[in-house]
Amino acid sequence: MAIVDRALVRLLPAVPKPVVRRISERYIAGEELDDALRVVRRLNAEGKMATIDVLGEEIASPDEARAIAEAYRKTFEALDRANLDSNVSVKPTALGLKLGHDLFRENLESVVEHAAERGNFVRIDMEDSSTTDDTLGTYRELRAAGHENVGVVLQACLKRTIDDVRELADLKPNVRLCKGIYLEPPGVAFRDFDAIRASFLQILDALWDAGCYVGVATHDEWLVEQTRERLTERGFAREDYEFQTLLGVRPALGDELVAQGHRLRIYTPFGRHWYAYSLRRLKENPKIAGYIAADTLNRLLPGRNGSA
Ligand SMILES: Cc1cc2nc3c(=O)[nH]c(=O)nc-3n(C[C@H](O)[C@H](O)[C@H](O)COP(=O)(O)OP(=O)(O)OC[C@H]3O[C@@H](n4cnc5c(N)ncnc54)[C@H](O)[C@@H]3O)c2cc1C
Repeated sequence: MAIVDRALVRLLPAVPKPVVRRISERYIAGEELDDALRVVRRLNAEGKMATIDVLGEEIASPDEARAIAEAYRKTFEALDRANLDSNVSVKPTALGLKLGHDLFRENLESVVEHAAERGNFVRIDMEDSSTTDDTLGTYRELRAAGHENVGVVLQACLKRTIDDVRELADLKPNVRLCKGIYLEPPGVAFRDFDAIRASFLQILDALWDAGCYVGVATHDEWLVEQTRERLTERGFAREDYEFQTLLGVRPALGDELVAQGHRLRIYTPFGRHWYAYSLRRLKENPKIAGYIAADTLNRLLPGRNGSA
């Protein structure tokens, strides 16, 4: 399967842009903030929360990073005006992490402050392992500066994550736990599917033991089931946790969670860089190309259930 996935990715640049757009449509709200607001409004009406991601590609200058921060500030203002239930997710490199610590911190802090003024929250996405130390370090700095409305993402595929949980425990961080999308060297990451699942559950338990609020971000039904069992064992109330999924991915699973009374937040990307974003995400992890190809096929073939 891995060979097929890689072949699909190699073919992508040859696929006409309108076709990539049609495929991406399901996973990306659109090009403009208004597109994201429209999607969030629909999600809210379905009893789901959202987190908006402003797509920023390959930030090359401090001005571009500042423009992304400004786009997030505008997003909070629009969410507030429209009274929508959504926070935001920011990519550290889009806010300038690779261009200098001070720039990144300044941009991130301005977004976090803007959110706080509106009683909202900022999730710092986690990118590849070359960014983990800087991302967690800056998170710690913001917390030390008194900012409470900010959270991080931890990746179950990274071998270091269980130690990161111990190191962060004194802060009781608000954490999104996911498997991790980046292809990492075997030295730093688990590669085996079951090892990543086992790590996910070990980290989830460790976070809950430390009293953390966790957004459980997965479409893996087995992990969702394991999480549900743990929620019952721990006697958690509805507001003590949330599930999270990506826009357009396994919607039937999301609907089932909502119908069962769980809180669900949908990751909702928007922006003009949708094409570069789609290609980059697919190249980062060819497995995703396989998912999308299978999913698209499912929807095209009559009689197959592509709604999940
Ligand atoms: C809300 C949210 C936020 C995330 N934030 C980050 C982050 O900050 N950093 C990071 O490294 N990773 C992030 N991820 C991605 C995550 O790390 C995984 O790569 C991704 O969720 C796939 O893993 P899975 O747990 O769903 O399990 P898998 O076993 O990989 O997937 C289970 C099933 O879900 C479907 N599926 C999963 N992903 C897709 C997709 N993209 N398109 C189509 N179908 C799919 C497939 O049918 C697959 O069989 C995030 C994921 C979610 C849900």
